[in-house]
Amino acid sequence: MRFISVRNMSGWIRETGPETIIAGLVDALAVDFARWERFEREPRIASHSPIGVIELMPTSDGELYAFKYVNGHPDNPAQGFQTVTAFGVLADVLTGYPLFLSEMTLLTALRTAATSGLAARVLARPDSDRMAMIGAGSQAEFQALAIRSQLGITKLRLFDTDAGAAEATARNLRPLGFDVTVEASAADAARDADVITTCTADKSNAVVLRADEVRPGTHINAIGGDCPGKTELDIALVRDNRVFIEHEPQTRIEGEIQKLPADSPVTELWTVIDGRAPGRVSAEEVTVFDSVGFAIEDFTALRFARDATSGTRFSEQIDLIAEPDDPKNLFGMVGSPVPVV
Ligand code: NAD
Repeated sequence: MRFISVRNMSGWIRETGPETIIAGLVDALAVDFARWERFEREPRIASHSPIGVIELMPTSDGELYAFKYVNGHPDNPAQGFQTVTAFGVLADVLTGYPLFLSEMTLLTALRTAATSGLAARVLARPDSDRMAMIGAGSQAEFQALAIRSQLGITKLRLFDTDAGAAEATARNLRPLGFDVTVEASAADAARDADVITTCTADKSNAVVLRADEVRPGTHINAIGGDCPGKTELDIALVRDNRVFIEHEPQTRIEGEIQKLPADSPVTELWTVIDGRAPGRVSAEEVTVFDSVGFAIEDFTALRFARDATSGTRFSEQIDLIAEPDDPKNLFGMVGSPVPVV
């Protein structure tokens, strides 16, 4: 069984470059979104507590099975922990044997960014020139790189209620060639944006972006509202604009649209990728990708990471599955029983 540790995941990302990996993942996601109906699709299994959630996200395409363990605890940073951590497994459907185990805290940031990148590729105006980011925590730099990889945008206005977090993100992004300004409010950040990403963490029905702060023609990737009772957008943004989602049964529970009637119109993003549904239909419309994160994206990310690191020093062999010489003699691995005297 192959394994990517945190050290090797960060080594692989550093050596390859996060933007290169995100761009590759966007292409891989586009392929898997186009064969969406081949996958098992169930809402994730969530265990909620008053301060967070622990989730399992399984899927299979009939050949490979994948699951991710992930948490979401918005109060964690105040105690020195991250909001989101994760790991995942890829297994062979034929034998049921796990094939690959990986850290997924970093990989989730890459895949979430890549999914935003894919949405922006098909929904943002091709002439988009400026982006805004509301929320500058762990996901922020990855999200910015994803938008640049798909639309070439380097101008970014950032807002975070924690000015230190916004400054830190700006410091990380400037050396990568971004023209970043830290703004005093979401309205200031959004004022001339063509693409807006909201990636805040707060277990409440917050409004981090109001409809009157959004220009016609904008594309919004709303990634922070991803749990019951945890949303980010002014309800008018999802009520009055076309909303694109991952898997409707899950997003109805977890996404921005949890605030809307259960029959409000939505478009699953994969149907735009495979050509069944239109994406953006005019230069003036506001499009909203109500992202919550779906198991198929983790499947794609795990397979991509496994293949890209195969045969490199970043992929290790680990001894996780017991393999007795005789498959019917597991006991043989622990020795003969002690004779009773
Ligand atoms: P984080 O805690 O590292 O960062 C969140 C940032 O939001 C913090 O810096 C915080 O100060 C800021 N913030 C909170 N309220 C704000 C407000 N009203 N206006 C501006 N900034 C505000 O979290 P993260 O790891 O970056 O994740 C961000 C969000 O994305 C979380 O809610 C997480 O659950 C979600 N997420 C979604 C997906 C997905 O697939 N959709 C994947 C990963 C994470």
